[in-house]
Amino acid sequence: MIKAKKSLGQNFLIDKNIIDKIVNILELKNKNILEIGPGTGNLTEGILKKNPKKILVIEKDNNLASLLKEKFKDKIEVINKDILKINENTLSNQTFTVFGNLPYNISTEILSKWVLNLEDKIWFDSLILMFQKEVADRIISNFNTKSYGRLTILANWRLDIKKICDINPMSFQPKPKIDSTVLFFRPKKNFYSFKNSKNLEKVTRIFFMHRRKMIKKPYYQLFNGDISISAKMGIDLNSRPQNLDFETYFKLTKEYENLRS
Ligand code: SAH
Repeated sequence: MIKAKKSLGQNFLIDKNIIDKIVNILELKNKNILEIGPGTGNLTEGILKKNPKKILVIEKDNNLASLLKEKFKDKIEVINKDILKINENTLSNQTFTVFGNLPYNISTEILSKWVLNLEDKIWFDSLILMFQKEVADRIISNFNTKSYGRLTILANWRLDIKKICDINPMSFQPKPKIDSTVLFFRPKKNFYSFKNSKNLEKVTRIFFMHRRKMIKKPYYQLFNGDISISAKMGIDLNSRPQNLDFETYFKLTKEYENLRS
């Protein structure tokens, strides 16, 4: 019997219907699969049945990594490492279909890292990821809502996002205290290109530093008090960070980059 480690966010998916639903979102035959945090391999097993070309899994927990090697033998390749320390661009020269019931404490960090580090050559064709519901709600929210924020903007910059379903705590062992949600992402064909994605990260970080305050201060900080850009873009500096839509943040980042070049 495996004892679940809380520190690694271990809640194993045991609901066959949900596993079925997740592996049937896409045709997996002959696909190159990457699974993050496979745990005891319940989802992995569902994926295997769909006859993918290859399954690579990344699991940080040493015990689980050996258990997976024993259980699946040469049917999968196990990398016993921390996903945050891996450069996904170097894993394969083919694109991956990525699955992950991500540990809740690092899920936003992983998604931000993937979006910000996306190069011209994209290493995945789809991401099927499970988040705690509250985080998924942030990712799919829109401007003028409470859950709209940096994560929403970063994710929507490079990805088309679709909600698949919510999952009840009963579907896991041990049961988490919260609901979960499965989201499906695909890389966007058209998106704003920046000199450096870190500038989008910076602009949104500074704007959202104080969610409830007017954007005057962060705007001044970024643009050295020059109001001509906000005037040109029709931005009301008395609005709050959640009142600006995606497009406005992308354009502001462009302006910020122009200013520095
Ligand atoms: N996908 C499995 C397990 C989900 S629990 C299922 O649905 O049943 C989350 C899994 O992620 C655990 O196996 C945990 O050990 C692993 N994990 C946690 N942090 C990780 C990290 N930084 N890198 C890789 N795996 C990690």
